[in-house]
Amino acid sequence: MTETPNLRIAVVGAGPGGYAAAFLAADLGMKVTLIDPELNPGGVCLYRGCIPSKALLHVAKLIDESRHARHWGIQFGEPKIDLTRLRSFKEGVVQKLTGGLGTLSKQRKVQYVQGRASFESSTVLRVAKAGGGEENMTFDRVILATGSRPAVIPALKLDTPRMMDSTTALDLHDVPGTLLVIGGGYIGLELGTVYAALGTKVSVVEMLPGLLPGADRDLVLPLHKRIEKIFDSVLLNTTVAAVKEESNGIRVTFEGPEVKERQRVFEKVLVSVGRKPNSEIPGLDKTQAQVGPRGFIEVNLQLQTDDPAIYAIGDVVGEPMLAHKAAHEGRTAVEAIAGHKVAFEPAAIPAVVFTDPEIAWCGLTETQAEKENREIKVAKFPWAASGRALTLDRPEGLTKLLIDPQNERVLGMGIVGPGAGELIAEGVLAIEMAALAKDVALTIHPHPTLSETVMEAAEVFFGTSTDIYRPKRS
Ligand SMILES: Cc1cc2nc3c(=O)[nH]c(=O)nc-3n(C[C@H](O)[C@H](O)[C@H](O)COP(=O)(O)OP(=O)(O)OC[C@H]3O[C@@H](n4cnc5c(N)ncnc54)[C@H](O)[C@@H]3O)c2cc1C
Repeated sequence: MTETPNLRIAVVGAGPGGYAAAFLAADLGMKVTLIDPELNPGGVCLYRGCIPSKALLHVAKLIDESRHARHWGIQFGEPKIDLTRLRSFKEGVVQKLTGGLGTLSKQRKVQYVQGRASFESSTVLRVAKAGGGEENMTFDRVILATGSRPAVIPALKLDTPRMMDSTTALDLHDVPGTLLVIGGGYIGLELGTVYAALGTKVSVVEMLPGLLPGADRDLVLPLHKRIEKIFDSVLLNTTVAAVKEESNGIRVTFEGPEVKERQRVFEKVLVSVGRKPNSEIPGLDKTQAQVGPRGFIEVNLQLQTDDPAIYAIGDVVGEPMLAHKAAHEGRTAVEAIAGHKVAFEPAAIPAVVFTDPEIAWCGLTETQAEKENREIKVAKFPWAASGRALTLDRPEGLTKLLIDPQNERVLGMGIVGPGAGELIAEGVLAIEMAALAKDVALTIHPHPTLSETVMEAAEVFFGTSTDIYRPKRS
């Protein structure tokens, strides 16, 4: 490990990108200042994103399983929900993790400044401190990790607690009788799932013809079927034209070819239509860093902006806006500053939708291959033939491999089913290691587990899966 003593580094934003960068920079011997408005590091992911949503989704899954248990001859009563305790479970998880990061920060002697940074010049930041007061601080390098925020549709903006974004939805003020989720992306579906489990009648409206636009349709189908069961309605090819607050809720006007009821009133509405990068950092125009047409800060493969002293990582530099991408970019930026020969060029970045069933994919998708007119072979193993899936009563899952027909390399993996988010890591490793389908097929997987479906999908590619029968072609 190269030591880079005395290099003064500022990291602006302490989300998963920022704190990973700051901690590694400190480990490499740099003098690090980490600036963020929150009390402790964590950013969107820990305070109002990945972590609180997963804590609530765990509870939602438990409720759903307890309801389903009657199919196995076990009857539980309807759950009694103590919202105060549920909130404190979720907040406890957040506090433990962010407090832990605060301690790790101190142990590494990172100077943590609670406040907001703006630029005076490429190497001078003006920091407005949370406790009051401002200070100019000079650095050798600045890493911007300012993240993103929920996108807003101006026409659908109403200043009322009935209109929520992902942050206020996670606060879980109450369990409304009815909720409309605007946007069928992963955040809307995850939060809709939580509210549906707690007893809200949830509807989701998506302007495109399917939920989770961009994901392969065969992966989305089992989730779509389940969402139709647990949600009140799924409105596709439909846009929200107007919202108006009334005494008992928000009157929503729908438009689209499939609209049956043009207006409906919902107790609450969750707007979940994507995220916008936080690239409007005051004073950034005093530097040479450039912001592209979609609002992302432009960087090269070392995450360096057009200003040699400024690097940028995470949501603020582009898609996919995911915590693990931000953290890896953070490491690359710091290693580049330390003079290592590095580039951010992953072969696969996993994406996970933590609904029930979960959906996960990595590397090439079928949708992308079709768009690029790329020749691939797809090998699918249906979970109906998996012993483990049947013991869980979840036969609707699917594991598929996308394989290069020329050299039999694994190019992509897609999974739908419980635990898909854990299983996908094997696909990422296979792709990063340039594994062949044969490598996956020959790797002995433990039985009975869902991980066997990955090996079985590779067997399907060779026509040698013994767990499914395909008649021989004559
Ligand atoms: C509801 C929800 C669920 C999600 N679930 C997942 C998931 O399961 N898995 C996953 O990978 N991703 C998930 N995400 C996305 C994930 O949260 C982001 O991709 C990730 O947090 C991005 O990290 P980041 O380091 O780029 O910035 P962020 O986490 O956005 O942190 C940026 C920080 O910078 C601070 N900041 C901004 N401007 C300044 C300034 N001028 N000065 C100082 N500080 C500043 C912000 O206040 C913030 O604390 C979810 C997001 C949401 C909203």
